[in-house]
Amino acid sequence: MTNTDTAVALGAARVQPPSPRSQAPPHASSPAGQRPTAAEAASGHGDRFTGHMFSIEYEPGAGWRRPELLPLGSVPLHPGTVGLHYGQAIFEGLKAFRQPDGSIAVFRPRDNARRFQRSAARLAMPPLPEAMFLDAIERLVAADASALPADPAQSLYLRPLMFATDTNLMLKPSERYRFLLMAFVAGGFFGAGVDAISVRVNHNHARAMPGGTGDVKIAGNYAPTFPAQIEAERAGCQQVLWLDSTENRWIEEMSGMNLFLVAGRGHRTEIVTSPLTGTLLPGVTRDTVLRLAARLGYGVREERIALSQWRDGSGPGGRFTEAFACGTAAVITSVRDVRDAGGDWIIGDGQPGPVTTTLRKALTNVQRGRVPDTEGWLHPVPRTDLSVPARTCSP
Ligand SMILES: *Cc1c(COP(=O)(O)O)cnc(C)c1O
Repeated sequence: MTNTDTAVALGAARVQPPSPRSQAPPHASSPAGQRPTAAEAASGHGDRFTGHMFSIEYEPGAGWRRPELLPLGSVPLHPGTVGLHYGQAIFEGLKAFRQPDGSIAVFRPRDNARRFQRSAARLAMPPLPEAMFLDAIERLVAADASALPADPAQSLYLRPLMFATDTNLMLKPSERYRFLLMAFVAGGFFGAGVDAISVRVNHNHARAMPGGTGDVKIAGNYAPTFPAQIEAERAGCQQVLWLDSTENRWIEEMSGMNLFLVAGRGHRTEIVTSPLTGTLLPGVTRDTVLRLAARLGYGVREERIALSQWRDGSGPGGRFTEAFACGTAAVITSVRDVRDAGGDWIIGDGQPGPVTTTLRKALTNVQRGRVPDTEGWLHPVPRTDLSVPARTCSP
């Protein structure tokens, strides 16, 4: 996998070519002359893996067993492994953040544990108990704590993965499974100097359909979005905007981020996002943004918005003033413009608007423990003795 492929899978935007709008100096780790979008900056390149992984196996009869911390390394797979052939594979994405006292906390991991269970159920896989999911996270973060610098712009992206390990090509669910948790260091760039993204409306493919798998995080949901992502990039955009697949009319989400519009002005300002129709992913960030916005006094509305409504309401004095995408990897990233066969339009003045900026700050403040955690979203990782060597892989 290349860096950019990883960025797409995470729902992060790729590095944008230099544009006349760019005034900030180039990002240190970007190719010369380019600077990151907010999404790119916040997700990093996806390949700064830490030194360990955490493994748990599932065996029929025995259930989930052999939880162990291992050095990060290759996993030998028989070519007949079910997960490779029939896509019985699911994943999650969540982040750990340094807190002001130097400790580390994971953001809303129970929500990811529960979503992981829903994803598993959808593919006839055994659910991993929430306590085991949390224990794996605590132990990996404790083991690799030194990989997370004190720099508050950085975070530890955690990637739980579960796949079918039977070696049998009959078309039936596997009896054995493997859970693996890995992590990489993300971010390193915050605040000013990041670009908003351009999004391209997709009309050629469907990401999700009613009764399908769009509301769970299964591996098979993502590669089918890659052709549209490539087309979007050829058109100079960073992300694909998916419409509902039944009427090809209602705006839903990106390939890995939920979408919000800002409507109204002044004390009438509200944020609007699609209800959970079953064909979009219930993001933890989406839920967090809805709650933070309500706390900040914005109106909060779940409403289906047609693409044409958004376009027609985007002019001067129109209903819609800002738009942003959100997800664990990309945090909150402002949408600059929309490109569509039926006409393009720019959101506001093309710059991140005040509501987007306020919500982004509110979210990053909660994650980094800069404001009281009134909702119990931060899950502290117990400090452990880092000098204890990890168990090594058994041959
Ligand atoms: C992961 C994902 C999101 C964002 O979910 P978070 O829990 O906020 O990271 C949004 N849409 C899709 C399709 C996703 O896969």
